[in-house]
Amino acid sequence: MALKGTDIVKRLPDGGKKNCKECGFPTCFAYAMKLASGGTTVDKCTYLAPEVKAELTEALAPPMKLVTIGTGANAIKIGNEEVLYRHEKTFFNKPGLAILISDNEPAANVDAKVKKIKDMKFERVGLILKADMLALRFASGNRAGYEALVRKVCETTDVPLVLISEDFDALVAARQICGARNPLVYPVTKDNVDRAITAFKAAPTPLGVRGTGVEELIPLTTRLKAAGLDDLVLDPGSKTVLDAIRDQTFIRRAALKQGFRPLGYPTIAFPALTAGGGLNEMAAAAVMICKYPGVIVLSDIDEASLLALAVLRLNIYTDPRVPMSVEEKVYGINNPDENAPVLLTGNWALTYFIVSSETEGSKVPAWLAVKHTEGLGVLTAWAAGKFSGDNIGPFVKKVGVADKVKHRRLVIPGKVARIKGELEEALPGWEIIVGPREASEIPAWLPKLVEKWKN
Ligand code: SF4
Repeated sequence: MALKGTDIVKRLPDGGKKNCKECGFPTCFAYAMKLASGGTTVDKCTYLAPEVKAELTEALAPPMKLVTIGTGANAIKIGNEEVLYRHEKTFFNKPGLAILISDNEPAANVDAKVKKIKDMKFERVGLILKADMLALRFASGNRAGYEALVRKVCETTDVPLVLISEDFDALVAARQICGARNPLVYPVTKDNVDRAITAFKAAPTPLGVRGTGVEELIPLTTRLKAAGLDDLVLDPGSKTVLDAIRDQTFIRRAALKQGFRPLGYPTIAFPALTAGGGLNEMAAAAVMICKYPGVIVLSDIDEASLLALAVLRLNIYTDPRVPMSVEEKVYGINNPDENAPVLLTGNWALTYFIVSSETEGSKVPAWLAVKHTEGLGVLTAWAAGKFSGDNIGPFVKKVGVADKVKHRRLVIPGKVARIKGELEEALPGWEIIVGPREASEIPAWLPKLVEKWKN
């Protein structure tokens, strides 16, 4: 259970009265309070006895372990979650979407899936949405074939890998091929846990631990942790989507609400193997994005399904406390010059990307002046007093719109047409033009405006 600062200070040197300041805090008590809130780390005090350090490290560890699969910029971090429901705070580490490749699939299928993981991606609100991982399954019975698959994928991609094999020797051999990639090795079960400890203790890698139910996971994770293998990903062995919801929720609740360490790890789910393919599989994957695995293994994916799942994941894993926003500045679209029109909008990311993309689609060179509205949409920002003549006038001067164009015309969103008068007062000499109410009207409206100016 989490310790309070007053509990921690009693464990510090001289009962918390040494106060040497070497940790950077003025007193032991201040350090203890910061430690309790997660604002500093145990290693800052070098006078802690080893057993006290171990005790504090264990007691202050997050209720769900952070596990990294893969290496470098493509590595996936899962776990370290703090809440059962997103609206309580936020979900932190989005699940990795993995595409399954079995070693008995035709070579053309393998190549197609490798190509998808490399090339299939979408841009939305400035973010790249894509699948993240490949799960390589030994299904042929031919170890040499499996090793060839692992070697090929390892050489041709740099995405995180899940190695899947019921044949433990094949699993160890595959791990040796791509060990430098820090793969998730799956499954460790009650039947092979001793061999797994022997095989991986010297050079740990993330391990997928599978039980025939949640209860069976508990002795397994306890043994692995005692052996120093603590980067674990849990599979409760759920056979249906309903079972998966129940098991995933149970594990999450036990870890976060009860502080039950043996289940304090991220999880993995296999819609690929349990949902029956097609739309059922995608529906199961969508459910799992909401509750709660860190890795979701799919048999395959097409563009439509990937877009739907990735957008759902983006929505669930976007911090609801922080509106997505873009930088306040003047953006050039379609190589504008000093004659280009200037459009005004707010800095909610969705507004910016829709307005900029519709402006781009108009083929008209233009400037897009994006005012900081604390991530609010234009109408909401106006209602909150953040998009009015009083503050837009100073904004236009501050960001130097007048330095970019020789005309003095400003297009405002049609939804805030009522601020036209205020703006004319705030920006003397400027013509304020009311633009379309909807961004989708820009491609038809903007060329006509420019044509009118020319004439
Ligand atoms: Fe206290 Fe340790 Fe900080 Fe010194 S370094 S003030 S002993 S907590």
